[in-house]
Amino acid sequence: MTNSPARIAIASGKGGTGKTTLATNLAAYIAEQEEVVLVDLDVEEPNSGLFFKGDLIHEESNFKMIPQWDEPKCTFCGLCQKVCNFHAVLQLGPTILVFPELCHSCYACSELCPTDALPMISKRTGKLSDFRINNLHFVESRLDVGEEQAVPTISKTKQYSNENYAHLRIEIYDCPPGTSCPVIEATKNADFVILITEPTPFGLHDLTLAIETMRTLKKPMGVVVNRYGIGNDAVIDYCQKENITILAKIPNSRRIAELYSSGKLIYQEIPEVKELLSNILDYCLKASKGDIE
Ligand code: SF4
Ligand code: SF4
Repeated sequence: MTNSPARIAIASGKGGTGKTTLATNLAAYIAEQEEVVLVDLDVEEPNSGLFFKGDLIHEESNFKMIPQWDEPKCTFCGLCQKVCNFHAVLQLGPTILVFPELCHSCYACSELCPTDALPMISKRTGKLSDFRINNLHFVESRLDVGEEQAVPTISKTKQYSNENYAHLRIEIYDCPPGTSCPVIEATKNADFVILITEPTPFGLHDLTLAIETMRTLKKPMGVVVNRYGIGNDAVIDYCQKENITILAKIPNSRRIAELYSSGKLIYQEIPEVKELLSNILDYCLKASKGDIE
C-alpha cells in the first residue's frame, strides 16, 4: 500500500465530448473540501485553465535532448542515418541534417557515431505552469508552436505533479483525446480511468476503441455519458453488454451548454450535476482502492 494520491484520469475516444468540463468540475468540486491537483495533459491544446483564474506559483521550460552536428569531426560514414528509427537524421551529400521535431531523444546516433560528431544538446519544447486557486492546484504544459511530440512532455508534467503533490489524496488527469501514444502515456499510471462519451454512433465508435485501449492497459474504468438524451441508447447497451459501469448520465441541457460556453463551472449552478459528481468521485475512490471489481 503506497501513500500516493488516487490518480483519476479523464479520457475520451475523441475531442469535444466534455472531457475538460468533467475534469474541471470534478477538481473544483473536490477543492471545496480538500486540496487537489488537476493536471492538464492535453499538452497540444490545454484548455482546463480557461475555467480557472489563479495565481501562477511556478513556471519552467520543458526540454528534450537532440543531437547537434559537429561538422569538422564528421567523416560522413552514414551510420547515424542508418541507426535512426525515426528518420530524424539525414545525410545529404557532405551535410548531416537533424530534424529536431522527429527526434525521440534515443541517443543512438550520438552514442554510435565513431567520431563523436553528434553530441546531444537540450532544446526547449514548451512550458510548464503551476497555478494555485485556493485548494486547487492546477498544472499544465503547453508545447511550443511546431513541436509535435506530446509524450515526453506528458511524462515530464506527470513527474512534476508527482514530485510536488504526492501528499494529496486525489490527483486528476485531463488526458489528451484519442487512443494513441499520448493518451497511453497519460493514463498508464492512473488508478482509475473515466471515459466520457456521447450517446451517438460516433460516440459509440470512439468509446469502443478507448475501452479496448484501456483493457489492453488493464485499467479499471467507468463511463460517463454526456449530453444524455440526444442520439440513442446504443452506448448504454454496449456498456451493459461489456459489463462496464455507467458512472453518470449528464443530461443534454441548454443551460449546461450556456454555462460551459461562458467558461463557468456547471455544478455550482446545477445541483443535479453536483450530485452526479459526488457519485462519480465516490465510485472512483472506491475503485482506485480496489473496493469495487
Ligand atoms: S555517424 Fe558521425 S561521423 Fe558518421 S556520418 Fe553521422 S555524424 Fe558523421
Ligand atoms: S537521438 Fe535517436 S531519434 Fe534522435 S536523431 Fe538520434 S537516433 Fe534519431
